[in-house]
Amino acid sequence: MVPLSEYQRRLSSVRSQMQGHGVDTLLLSIGHDMPYLIGYHAMPLERLTMLVVPAKGELTLIVPALEEPRVHHIPELFRVVPWNETVEPLDLVAGECSGASTIAVGDQMWSRFLVGLLSRLPNMSWTRANDVVSPARMVKGAAEIAALKSAAAAVDRIAARLQGGDIELVGRTEAEVSAELSRQLLAEGHEKVNFAIVAAGENAASPHHHPGGRIIGRDEIVLCDFGGTMNGYCSDITRCVVTGAISSDVAAAWSVLQTAQEIGVRAGVVGVACEEVDRATRAVIAEAGYGEYFVHRTGHGIGMEEHEDPYMVEGSRVPLAAGHAYSVEPGIYVPGKWGMRLEDIVVATEQGPLRLNEACHDLVSVAA
Ligand code: ZN
Ligand code: ZN
Ligand code: ZN
Repeated sequence: MVPLSEYQRRLSSVRSQMQGHGVDTLLLSIGHDMPYLIGYHAMPLERLTMLVVPAKGELTLIVPALEEPRVHHIPELFRVVPWNETVEPLDLVAGECSGASTIAVGDQMWSRFLVGLLSRLPNMSWTRANDVVSPARMVKGAAEIAALKSAAAAVDRIAARLQGGDIELVGRTEAEVSAELSRQLLAEGHEKVNFAIVAAGENAASPHHHPGGRIIGRDEIVLCDFGGTMNGYCSDITRCVVTGAISSDVAAAWSVLQTAQEIGVRAGVVGVACEEVDRATRAVIAEAGYGEYFVHRTGHGIGMEEHEDPYMVEGSRVPLAAGHAYSVEPGIYVPGKWGMRLEDIVVATEQGPLRLNEACHDLVSVAA
């Protein structure tokens, strides 16, 4: 349960961004901005649900009458306007926007709603809600960091079992191991599994491989990248194991990767631009001659969503602030041969980067 004071902290943070960006009204539909502000997840259906956030005054949740019973109403925070089947809800939204001249719209609002609003509200200037909500959402409060920590501890326990050889690999398909990781995510307290990538041997060279019918053999690298949502906040970890003997080329690459990841984590100092974290990991990997095999950004922000702002990528000038939570996940992928990635979640703090994942960072050989 998120206390009212926490919602009030979030709302005032969003409102100060609205003021800075000259936004009069914020319109949020599906996605995570609405639950961030009031705890309610809109159903992703054709019936409109919309939270209207004016620069000042009461918030209004416009919701299908049949979904009103799902709303946990917090009267100090917002009022609820249910609409019946014969009403055009876009008219209700437009009515709430009278007097505004600049409206910010949630990234995931469907075009069927946005196009309807454009014609009802001519002469309005439109902008993205991301500009005003994301700066607030990026800076996690104490309760949010605590939730990220317990989600990280849960996936660490699964990673430890993987590295301890307690999750059978050889002779099973990637899909079977993925299903087992998914079960363990739920057993460890996640309410939802977001992904469980299992990629063996040459399949590991595809960073977002979809686990399939390939049977895991001996002396192969197995990349496992898994995460879910626990108490509303996400976990995300990648560890690799080898089923038997580790070849010298794989061992050499892992030592480079492990150093790159460590240096990337340490680069996460408050005040530096996010791109510096990417540059730090990439420099180590390039220096060792694997530069062409590191084909993605170093990391992504994490919170209520698995991937959210800020992104650790060249070109991102966003300065790291205390409370930013993000992944550091460099990888080396040699097409046709093998791939590897090492990923932890990190929180930037005034005392330096705080690593949330503590599972062993070595490339562990599990008995085949
Ligand atoms: Zn990813
Ligand atoms: Zn991951
Ligand atoms: Zn990740």
